[in-house]
Amino acid sequence: MAKTESRVAVVTGASRGIGRSIAERLGADGLHLVLVARDEKRLADVVSAIESAGGSAESRVCDLADSAAVDALMAAILEDHGRLDVLVNNAGINRDGLILRMSDEDYDDVMNVNLKAAFVTCRAVARPMMRGRWGRIINISSVTGLIGNPGQANYAAAKAGMIGMTKTLAKELGSKGITANVVAPGFIETDMTEALSDEMLSEAAKRLPLRRLGKPDEIAHAVAFLASEGAGYVTGQVLTVDGGMVC
Ligand code: NAP
Repeated sequence: MAKTESRVAVVTGASRGIGRSIAERLGADGLHLVLVARDEKRLADVVSAIESAGGSAESRVCDLADSAAVDALMAAILEDHGRLDVLVNNAGINRDGLILRMSDEDYDDVMNVNLKAAFVTCRAVARPMMRGRWGRIINISSVTGLIGNPGQANYAAAKAGMIGMTKTLAKELGSKGITANVVAPGFIETDMTEALSDEMLSEAAKRLPLRRLGKPDEIAHAVAFLASEGAGYVTGQVLTVDGGMVC
């Protein structure tokens, strides 16, 4: 197995929104990007954008709700590159509803995509990162995982779970030069927030210290910092990028 020379980063949910921005940012920083999502065409567009900017990227189609498929995907990436240096678990969904009406299916779907897939990818990268004595795990949670939100019991449980899991990984893997951190976005302009009414979004923005919603690129910059050499002494942290919502 030939080893890819540049550092290899996997970004899940890289076909659009925050994940796309993260992938483009890390691509510009010289990493080889492996982009994961379900929409092949959108992934191809992101690969083209990264390559046009002088970076290097490839895409892998995978439904992260299927944990066996996620395991197989990670094994294939490792087999192809012989290394895996940066893991960004960004893919996420919501299936909102008040607890009285929330179905088991809506709970399970959110837990599987938002938390179990992240568990499977983290487990898969632990050994190769330990072997390389270097690694960056960055999990994209949400302010909802810190403070809760009516209608999001499933999403809040998954996002809070991600924080507990990441802090644990920081403690388990730190002695091998691997850091594990969380970025917790507030309201960011993507398809996920597009589903909310303009009125609700402008009311939310008015209550924020920075008085506006965030942009995907503002999350990408935080991730790029945590993925960098310079963030080598930062681990087990939750970096909220939320216009000051939680402060
Ligand atoms: P988005 O625009 O809805 O994009 C979600 C991404 O996840 C897409 O690339 C989607 O790709 C992928 N994805 C969803 N289900 C998948 C599955 N089963 N298998 C593989 N990929 C899947 O969301 P976003 O706003 O960029 O959010 C990115 C992350 O930030 C999420 O974890 C979200 O919870 C978190 N977040 C967002 C906000 C916000 O305000 N936007 C706030 C806090 C936290 P395909 O559809 O191509 O599969």
